[in-house]
Amino acid sequence: MRSIPFNAFIASSLICAAMAFLPVPTIARDTCIAADIDIEVSAATRRERELVCAGAQQALDLLALCGIRPRETIDVRIRPEVRHPLAGLIFGYYDLGERRITIASLDGLPGLMDGTPYAGLPPTDFYKSLVVHEVVHSVMHQNLGAGVHTQASYEYPAYALQIASLPGAAREQFMKSFDSERLERPIPLNDTILSFAPYLFAARAYNHFITSADGCLLLREALQGEIDIPSDAAR
Ligand SMILES: [Zn+2]
Repeated sequence: MRSIPFNAFIASSLICAAMAFLPVPTIARDTCIAADIDIEVSAATRRERELVCAGAQQALDLLALCGIRPRETIDVRIRPEVRHPLAGLIFGYYDLGERRITIASLDGLPGLMDGTPYAGLPPTDFYKSLVVHEVVHSVMHQNLGAGVHTQASYEYPAYALQIASLPGAAREQFMKSFDSERLERPIPLNDTILSFAPYLFAARAYNHFITSADGCLLLREALQGEIDIPSDAAR
């Protein structure tokens, strides 16, 4: 066990003492009901709780169009910031083990949107779309018939429906960030594109979904673990 230098000990003690007097945001819990399922939301502000309920309702409405319904309570927690162990601050995530959604606070959103193709979108529109993304993960997970074979198959429904849920003007603004020829080019929608160009993956997933002959079939395929989306072989 390493010893802590005395100065560092004093500094860490002072930080702890200071933190003891910092105001701690009060987290209130609300429950809203959508598609006969409880959506449990814990968030610091009423506005966040309203946006989560509206976003969850929108996600459940979109999934219901394809006959996909939630089976259990959806737990959504809003935190001042959400950190990925490797990627730093992120918008949010769905925890497969805990079956829980965590999303960053509305206040922290503009900073996270800066430098991304989401910058400039109305924050509340984008916030609801984030909720849609994570609720789609949750409901798809509740209905999974098999394990997910690829990360791309897991993310495709969430991104396609997230972008579909944006109001027309916001969606158009997001899609304009990408060269239309690049969106339609038959490049793969695979784990590599997802890792290195997640925003392009989101735009292409939406474009592929709305131009496909049967979007619901794609979502049902996702429930079986693998969607028929352009792969390396389609290049
Ligand atoms: Zn996702």
